[in-house]
Amino acid sequence: MSAQEFTATPHQGFSVFPLAAFSDNYIWCIQPAHSSSIWVVDPGDADVVLATLQQKQLQLAGILLTHHHRDHTGGVAKLQQSHPREVPVYGPQNPLISGVNQPLTQSAECQLACDDAPPLTARVYPVPGHTLDHLAYVIDDALFCGDTLFCAGCGRLFEGTPEQLYQSLQRLAALPDTTRVYCAHEYTLANLKFALAVEPHNPSLQTFYRQAQQLRLQQRPTLPSSIGLERAINPFLHCEDERLQTVLSEHWQCTPKDAVTRLKLLRSWKDNF
Ligand SMILES: [Zn+2]
Repeated sequence: MSAQEFTATPHQGFSVFPLAAFSDNYIWCIQPAHSSSIWVVDPGDADVVLATLQQKQLQLAGILLTHHHRDHTGGVAKLQQSHPREVPVYGPQNPLISGVNQPLTQSAECQLACDDAPPLTARVYPVPGHTLDHLAYVIDDALFCGDTLFCAGCGRLFEGTPEQLYQSLQRLAALPDTTRVYCAHEYTLANLKFALAVEPHNPSLQTFYRQAQQLRLQQRPTLPSSIGLERAINPFLHCEDERLQTVLSEHWQCTPKDAVTRLKLLRSWKDNF
């Protein structure tokens, strides 16, 4: 199996490149500068990671997991079995996930070590909503947010409450505008179609929709996004905006007075869009 090659995004001291997995997942690879090691985020498919390690002559330094869904964790056991020494696996402390040897339950910092480069520091943010165990990782100005925040959208509410998802999205949106957003799925075009139904007159949204269409025509990822872009185009980050109340009132024939109720109604609308 050969992995499709995508461009790496440079950061201070490391770069990030995606591996495509399943129909629309991305497994993000974090490679420290001048290093032949990578950390991988949410390796749902081991084979695509193993193929890349072989093709690029890279070592697997460790694994970060955001939440328990199989399309994010399914490759962990095979990756561990393929390596003679224990691979560090940071992830939620959750019996539904096997293979986590560095369990995380709350805000923390972890050191992502490599043999041939200084360690990278990842800040851990609990972001419940899509699932209760969901974590996000921030390394300098790179955010790995799994299925919590998507480009122009957010994850479905499988386990958490609208209040939890609202707080989690607010926390991520408070990161600097320049923060690069590495989401775990290529859902951008579908999300943009919904966002345009909600905010048809948003010029940033119209512009980015054209850019995203071009990228997908070329079979290129629309990611990473940025917090600044998301704050401009993502209706799930606009729940404080009174204008959202008008469009939600028209759709649902009710008047949501607070931001959490607006998020709940917006998410329900998207679930059936
Ligand atoms: Zn998920």
